[in-house]
Amino acid sequence: MDRELQKSENGFGGIVGQDVPVQVLNHLLELGKLPGTLLFSGPGGVGKYAAAISLAKILHCSGEQKSACGCHSCNAIRVGTHPDVIVLSREKSISVDEMRELVTIAALRSSRNHERTIIIDNAENITVPAANAALKALEEPGDHVRFILVTDTPEALLPTVRSRSYRLRFSLVDYARMVEFARAIGDDPDESDAKGAIRFARGRPGTYLRFMHSENYRQAVNEVREWITGTVKSGGKPRIKDAIEWKGKFWAMAEKLTDAEQSMSIPRGGDTFDLKRSLESGGKFILAPSNWKTEHGSGSEKRWTQGRRAILLTRLLRRILYMELDERSVNAIGLLYDFMEKLRFNCSFDIALERLYYGLSGFKG
Ligand SMILES: [Zn+2]
Repeated sequence: MDRELQKSENGFGGIVGQDVPVQVLNHLLELGKLPGTLLFSGPGGVGKYAAAISLAKILHCSGEQKSACGCHSCNAIRVGTHPDVIVLSREKSISVDEMRELVTIAALRSSRNHERTIIIDNAENITVPAANAALKALEEPGDHVRFILVTDTPEALLPTVRSRSYRLRFSLVDYARMVEFARAIGDDPDESDAKGAIRFARGRPGTYLRFMHSENYRQAVNEVREWITGTVKSGGKPRIKDAIEWKGKFWAMAEKLTDAEQSMSIPRGGDTFDLKRSLESGGKFILAPSNWKTEHGSGSEKRWTQGRRAILLTRLLRRILYMELDERSVNAIGLLYDFMEKLRFNCSFDIALERLYYGLSGFKG
């Protein structure tokens, strides 16, 4: 490996299009003043989680350069077996017991007296009592523990958690850098599939990756696209029977989309170098930075899981309709925003969905 490449693989070299947060992190690292609790916020699929994993590598690297490389420690973080790096990634809510357990682990000195890094993905899933149980730990993690909270809905976090965190904002990646990302992971951005995927992803490398490299995901998206454009263009007089059918279809689509996201052979969390190796090896180069497995909820957790799924699908619907940009689509995007608000404020899913359907299909009266 030549020197130049080796150098670029260090640190945050594999995170594309997030210059501001990366510069801030590098600066804080140089000064030795990295705060104890960090909050990475920004749209889904732009590289927040990948940056959190890169930061963990930098903090725990056992190589001479003290930055992300191919050393034993960096590799262990990549496959999710590093004893001092804990990743909690949940689709369901994070309970007070789980949070207490995490805080207890955080308070213990590791056997080798090393620092601990605790990454909480989907941090918006921390319930209010769980957040309260962790406030003290988040406020003063101590000199041997660092929390990295990752979320695409920071407004759903408790204000007391937000105020205790040093926030770094990640943003959508511009077109030129999306092209750079495609090239970095070994794709040809001039090829028509890649061009379509870049357009569809609208500044989200993670979405590009799924659309370009997961047949399941692309299929699910195309099905959703057909379904929603059909609904918006129908313009008939929907009956109650149609509404019931449409609601059923909504949940079926939401489930399919979530499944497609989770069944991907390339999990999230890799920088461009890891992703390239993973793609080149047909998924044999493992990327599994999660030693606390993702679980689905049941019973009282069901509403939570449903809500997450509905939000995921609604965001996709908005992106699809943005590509249309005719009058009806613009109107439909507004309705989808209203629907998202209703989900946040605990309205009945059923009633909110029914109203959404009548609105989308252009029914007045
Ligand atoms: Zn290393």
